[in-house]
Amino acid sequence: MTGKGRLLIVSNRLPLMMEEREGNWFAKPGAGGLVTALAPVLRDRGGVWIGWPGTTEAPSVQLRQAIGRAVADTGYDLVPVFLDATEKHFYYRVFANEVIWPLFHDMTSRCRFRPEAWDIYGRVNARFAGAVGEHLQTDDFVWIHDYHLMQVARHLREAKVEQRLAFFLHIPFPPLDIFTKLPWRRQLLADLLAFDLVGFQTQRDRRNFARCVSVLLPDVASVRTRGGYSIIQHRQDKRRVLIGVFPIGIDQAGFARDAAAPPVAERAWYLHENYPERQIVLGVDRLDYTKGVPEKLEAFRYLLQRWPQHNENVTLVQVVVPSRWEIPHYEQLKQEIERLVGEINGEFSRPGWVPVHYHYRALARDELLAYYRTAEILIASPWKDGMNLVAKEYCACDIEERGVLLLSEFAGAAAQLHRYAIMFNPHDITGMAEAIHQALDMPEDERRRRMRGLRRNVRAQDVFWWVDRFLQVALQRRLQDFPVIDEFVPGGSSLAAET
Ligand code: UDP
Repeated sequence: MTGKGRLLIVSNRLPLMMEEREGNWFAKPGAGGLVTALAPVLRDRGGVWIGWPGTTEAPSVQLRQAIGRAVADTGYDLVPVFLDATEKHFYYRVFANEVIWPLFHDMTSRCRFRPEAWDIYGRVNARFAGAVGEHLQTDDFVWIHDYHLMQVARHLREAKVEQRLAFFLHIPFPPLDIFTKLPWRRQLLADLLAFDLVGFQTQRDRRNFARCVSVLLPDVASVRTRGGYSIIQHRQDKRRVLIGVFPIGIDQAGFARDAAAPPVAERAWYLHENYPERQIVLGVDRLDYTKGVPEKLEAFRYLLQRWPQHNENVTLVQVVVPSRWEIPHYEQLKQEIERLVGEINGEFSRPGWVPVHYHYRALARDELLAYYRTAEILIASPWKDGMNLVAKEYCACDIEERGVLLLSEFAGAAAQLHRYAIMFNPHDITGMAEAIHQALDMPEDERRRRMRGLRRNVRAQDVFWWVDRFLQVALQRRLQDFPVIDEFVPGGSSLAAET
């Protein structure tokens, strides 16, 4: 890795959960893949993580002290950015979750373009930029994450910050005709062009962004493409912005290790004991209208009608993790899912067999891994998804290499996994049912061949590879000297990622 300065990570949330018990604050360290991958780099180079601590309580001395104590455990600095309840509402709930989230997932009918949300998004982004400015040293490199913080670089540039600033978008970037609906479309694009490097999950996202810039900001910047990257040059000061593709991975070794450990192995065995002689089709999705859960249930119903030989021989275990329930679209979705589960079970259940097992809760890690390890099939059916980590986690945990991955063409993961997964269009109910039918009847040697290919990819392009690759591109001496790195699947393309 090049460059000697510290790393400043900026994300909406700090990598910890603050909890209040009887007037005292406690910090629980976060454990997601991003934290696992970045923590060693932060410790090695020295670094700071800047983010919201997850509470709208006023920053009391006790709260600050609890965050201070957490620093001793993490081995790098944590800088909290505090938000009050109104700011959290407009910046996080409305602008991030009801404007950018649906728009960037091509679901404009779910957008609420509230002008006050845009204003408060700007105010909160300015506060994050202020926190970065306060802690920034000359050689530092700043890496900002995700759609909550797209304006931070512009605020820093206005404050005359010249350090290299990079951004990674974890969700998709929409095509021009969708993005154009955003009332603040030119401003937001220009904000992103204040970074030096902007990273996306897939080539499709990069191309969408480049096209938006060339059509909406022709007087501001020019766009060129080279070796899978776009180079955007500001017309006025000739400054360049590099746009690249960095598909995020998971901590594959960690998942595989924990899936093999006795507590998970035992749980997996007991789980399958409850489904004797039956194949388990697993779905694990956050409650979100982008995940295509109702269509998955419709496809399962069609499967049972069209191929009755599967009745009593297959169970769909659908886990829905509660999320954003205060937004009406999410509550409606929950009701729709529960209605469909009730209808299918009402129609097809027989003594000793219930076709859909539905869990509306977050699973403990061991339980989740046990389901991953034991399920014969995983089906991820998003209408659109930045990556879909669940698909990769399933492959990492299938240590016996007997499972089949069924994957939507519109998941970011499709670009890497399409060759060995069974792909389908999540809007095509009969096509999805056929894919499940094909997986249920797939011979063991084909399952093994496919799962080996999937696991090879998930291992080779894990989250540590992702961090290294991003930093390698971001920290080279001149941004235009970027390396062109071969994709894992040579010459591979998928409808989802390439169109
Ligand atoms: N997950 C979880 N608790 C659960 C089920 C899943 O924390 O009960 C995790 C899962 O391990 C994965 C993440 O939630 O890391 C979901 O990521 P994904 O990219 O699939 O979708 P997102 O929810 O980010 O849209």
